Amino acid sequence: MNAMKNAEKPTRCDIIVVGAGFGGMYAIYKFREMGFNVVGIEAASDVGGVWYWNRYPGARCDLMSVDYSYGFSDEVQQEWTWSEQFAAQPEILAYANFVADRLELRKHFQFETRVTSAIWDEKAKLWRTTTDRGEVLEAPFCIMATGPISIPKDPEIDGISRFKGQLLRAQKWPHEPIDFSGKRVGVIGTGSTGIQVIQEVGKLVTNCLSSSARQAGPCPCGTMTSARNTTPK
Ligand SMILES: Cc1cc2nc3c(=O)[nH]c(=O)nc-3n(C[C@H](O)[C@H](O)[C@H](O)COP(=O)(O)OP(=O)(O)OC[C@H]3O[C@@H](n4cnc5c(N)ncnc54)[C@H](O)[C@@H]3O)c2cc1C
Repeated sequence: MNAMKNAEKPTRCDIIVVGAGFGGMYAIYKFREMGFNVVGIEAASDVGGVWYWNRYPGARCDLMSVDYSYGFSDEVQQEWTWSEQFAAQPEILAYANFVADRLELRKHFQFETRVTSAIWDEKAKLWRTTTDRGEVLEAPFCIMATGPISIPKDPEIDGISRFKGQLLRAQKWPHEPIDFSGKRVGVIGTGSTGIQVIQEVGKLVTNCLSSSARQAGPCPCGTMTSARNTTPK
């Protein structure tokens, strides 16, 4: 969809939703059902939010998979079952895609577009949002479903710009597979992400060194296969 083809003339709608993660997808669905004209804007090329971006090896939820299931639609709930108690990223992203297809949510989103400003016009009682494509969208309501962790923070390490090896960030993991075989890998951070990465990448490499400023206290999740099978029927 391109809701905002004309950069010269602002596009008007009832509600702007920024973000196509689990929050933004629900907002689009809910407001559409209430009869509002909603437009979603998402920087990524598809739905899923953090589960679209975080494709690093070992990425999975630490809350039970079933808690990710949308409870608002009985149809959606009945048509999906999780294969593991703590689902891995590909399955959570597959679920987001399944919901987007099933509820026809994608047609309301403009993807690969970043909102660069949102300014409240007190006189017109409108939010005027601008995108990195130079488009302007106006609405009385603007929902920031932008999530708490969608912008990664680069580590401030002296000399990092001179590092000659491949530098990967968990949040912006490439879509193509990475060949780690026989390589030496350093992982910075031992929070839940670092630990997930080390467990998977450590199996493939010659040497895996991890480093963190503080000790993390993760618990083994002991992921188990769900009694029922996955994938939509
Ligand atoms: C590996 C991992 C495991 C996690 N496990 C759990 C868990 O077990 N339990 C739990 O509760 N939470 C967990 N989380 C946290 C996660 O943030 C939430 O689960 C949830 O998916 C967040 O959804 P959201 O829609 O609020 O935001 P997000 O999924 O972050 O979606 C926000 C979207 O907004 C877009 N966006 C941001 N700014 C702009 C802009 N200016 N213009 C356009 N688009 C923009 C981003 O591209 C992103 O797609 C985990 C996260 C990760 C990465």
